[in-house]
Amino acid sequence: MSWSFSTDPEFQEQLDWMAEFVRGEILPLETIWRELGPNGLREAMAPLQREVKSRGLWAAHLPPHLGGQGMGQIRLGLMHEILGTSPIAPLAFGNAAPDSGNSEILAMAGTPEQAERWLHPLLAGDLRSAFSMTEPDTAGSDPTQLRTRAVRDGEDWIIDGHKWFSSNGSIADFLIVMAVTDPDARPSQRASMFIVPRDTPGVEIVRDVPTMEHPWEQFGAYGGHAEILYEGVRVPADSLLGKEGEGFVLAQQRLGPGRIHHCMRWLGVARRAFDMMCERATYRSAHGSLLAEKQTVQNWIADSAAEMQAARLMTLHAAWVMDTQGARAAIVDVALIKFYGARVLHDVIDRALQVHGSLGYSSDLPLEQMYRFARAARIYDGPDEVHRQTVARRILQGYGPPADEVPTEHLPTRREEARERFVDLLDVLSAND
Ligand SMILES: Cc1cc2nc3c(=O)[nH]c(=O)nc-3n(C[C@H](O)[C@H](O)[C@H](O)COP(=O)(O)OP(=O)(O)OC[C@H]3O[C@@H](n4cnc5c(N)ncnc54)[C@H](O)[C@@H]3O)c2cc1C
Repeated sequence: MSWSFSTDPEFQEQLDWMAEFVRGEILPLETIWRELGPNGLREAMAPLQREVKSRGLWAAHLPPHLGGQGMGQIRLGLMHEILGTSPIAPLAFGNAAPDSGNSEILAMAGTPEQAERWLHPLLAGDLRSAFSMTEPDTAGSDPTQLRTRAVRDGEDWIIDGHKWFSSNGSIADFLIVMAVTDPDARPSQRASMFIVPRDTPGVEIVRDVPTMEHPWEQFGAYGGHAEILYEGVRVPADSLLGKEGEGFVLAQQRLGPGRIHHCMRWLGVARRAFDMMCERATYRSAHGSLLAEKQTVQNWIADSAAEMQAARLMTLHAAWVMDTQGARAAIVDVALIKFYGARVLHDVIDRALQVHGSLGYSSDLPLEQMYRFARAARIYDGPDEVHRQTVARRILQGYGPPADEVPTEHLPTRREEARERFVDLLDVLSAND
């Protein structure tokens, strides 16, 4: 039997180094990265990326033959918990979304030529990518409704469709586009993925959609969510990523580990908000005592600690299931952490913000930004409701109606059965009365 909650001392050393590196080198950049712009940020990141590479921590999500570390999900999860503390830390480690997920798909399904042209430069940080699946006019939570079409024309494919929320689409060099290739196939086999260079004629990046996270109009910034029109976009046959009809399978394979990484990153964010909440409680005084002495604040601290611990253990457990039994076995665990982790993230930040009063609501602290970021976690990579549905459906498969619809635990029925079974014992007892 093995059941361990410990981290190898060697890997713990790497984690300690990462935590120090993020604190010392990345958090200072965090306050000016928007001022730097995409090119300035790239320049600032270059020496940090070199240092990460020299420690053997670059692109840790990929297998060693692709320049990664082949770490497995538990180690990756622990790493993402540290990197999640800052929105720009993953950039220094070659595993920022969506490039990390896209590189995974390319590694999984790409031909050697596609790997050479797209994956290696992506890993080297020379190219940027986006994943273009969600459409404004169909429900993203039910991708079998996708309308974007790719039609074969001789040796080429022609893509027509309207997408939005393609993260980093406006700065990407190429887009991985999900399009229906066979509308008459079974729903899960209708769509395929294509690699589309952004400068292909017919690709029109309409705008970066302003969101709660970036409420101002902007175009071409890192982290923007692009609306894109694909009009008669002609790409050669070798742009197909994986096999025809494999789009959903590949998307699922991309999303499973990605959700574990998200959840661990959220814990990094939640921990930072939690630290702010605790610090504030130690010096802010109101109505005759420190906030730390108010029972409500104590409850928030205790509840947050318990919820973060629960989310962390659940997430590491999902990672363990994925490492030891494969992605299919981890479907329920991953769905559980996706909605539970998103709620913990939101609630901890919300309490931390409340404890800071107007300072928490102001942009003088990162809490309001964290709060806006946290709200999206309940939507992307599948809304809460869909993950709850997955969990409940799978759980319900283990249940069925009881005989004659009498509940299994119905006490009078059980008592009756027990009386029959133990009739001798009951007779002896009543004879002794
Ligand atoms: C910050 C951010 C980044 C994103 N990045 C990308 C990206 O890079 N690429 C990309 O392709 N997409 C991206 N998305 C899009 C995201 O994946 C979709 O928004 C998501 O899948 C939900 O789809 P939808 O917005 O169309 O909502 P809909 O599918 O219309 O769902 C709306 C609501 O309906 C309810 N609902 C849906 N299904 C059920 C159900 N079964 N039971 C009960 N209620 C239900 C839920 O409350 C849900 O929130 C991103 C989104 C955000 C917010």
